[in-house]
Amino acid sequence: MSETVFARRLEALRARFEDLDIDGFLTFHGPNRRYLSGFTGSAGYVLVTARHAVLLTDSRYTEQARQQAPDFEVIQHGDEVWDALSQQVRRAGVKHLGFEPDRVSVDWLGRAGGHLGDVTWVAVLGAVEDLRMIKDEDEIAAIARAQALTEQVLAEVLPMVRPGVREIELAVELEFRMRRRGAPAAAFDFIVASGPRSALPHGVASERAIQPGDLVTFDIGCVVDGYCSDLTRTVVVGEPDQRQREIYDLVRRAQETGLAALRPGRTGREVDAAARDVIAAAGYGDNFGHSLGHGVGLEVHEGPRLSRRSHTVLQPGMVVTVEPGVYIPGWGGVRIEDLVVVRPEGYQNLTSMAKDLLVLG
Ligand code: ZN
Ligand code: ZN
Repeated sequence: MSETVFARRLEALRARFEDLDIDGFLTFHGPNRRYLSGFTGSAGYVLVTARHAVLLTDSRYTEQARQQAPDFEVIQHGDEVWDALSQQVRRAGVKHLGFEPDRVSVDWLGRAGGHLGDVTWVAVLGAVEDLRMIKDEDEIAAIARAQALTEQVLAEVLPMVRPGVREIELAVELEFRMRRRGAPAAAFDFIVASGPRSALPHGVASERAIQPGDLVTFDIGCVVDGYCSDLTRTVVVGEPDQRQREIYDLVRRAQETGLAALRPGRTGREVDAAARDVIAAAGYGDNFGHSLGHGVGLEVHEGPRLSRRSHTVLQPGMVVTVEPGVYIPGWGGVRIEDLVVVRPEGYQNLTSMAKDLLVLG
């Protein structure tokens, strides 16, 4: 039998044990659990040691876990995980057990220490997240399917944008169509932000009715086979005025400059700076407060970041958004977001929707 993708991921994690000074690793963060094991249920502990890979879950999920995670030994635990977990930890002879400090509560850690007092708990940040940053072709294909579905649904709903329609109606229509086409979930609460609300970078759809002359920003995404998509387009209702055109063209230029800067070897901050410099040179630097982009995968926000503080070096297989924006309080805003994969020669855009300013209504 050929090695499974999960066996490869387990080996990649184990290869980091020595550097991390651990001989076992524990996670119950859903995306990390799924990435390592294939198990999609909502509860379960993944314990990886030098020789064992164990998935501890409760009676709701043991059957599903056995089907989805054949690389793992599935153990059913009782009301609490501690007895079964300490048995497995002892069996594997684990002395230094890595855990994810950003995924547990203070309460959990206290109880863990109480029940497994004979191991040393070692805080390990990002061990699985680092592996997840570089996608294989199957993962990229799932993200591309999610993005294609997202674009298709947005194209269908845009003709419904006209004065009097409420933001929330458009958001519901988008999600309904995504779900009907087979996406089991939206990737996040959709942003449909019209008129002055488009100046809110995260203006989740409200009851506001669209007015003539509004800019309307759509930021939407869905989940396909566990992987997320993320897409933003800004449209205008009726003929745009000069300032709307200017700001739109500026953001578009910044977005295209950011894309052109993407290639292996560049850092997240270098790509961020390429786009940010375009906006700053036009005098709107203070109106672009967020980072240029983020990784997308099993989670809609993951590594690597394209931001002023990101020293991550881009590598082929990383999937990131490029989404500059200009937001002017009281007036409105524009954001344009594509989802792309870093390739050896630069990047491949997983987004095909046009970026000309769409005049609707
Ligand atoms: Zn987005
Ligand atoms: Zn995004």
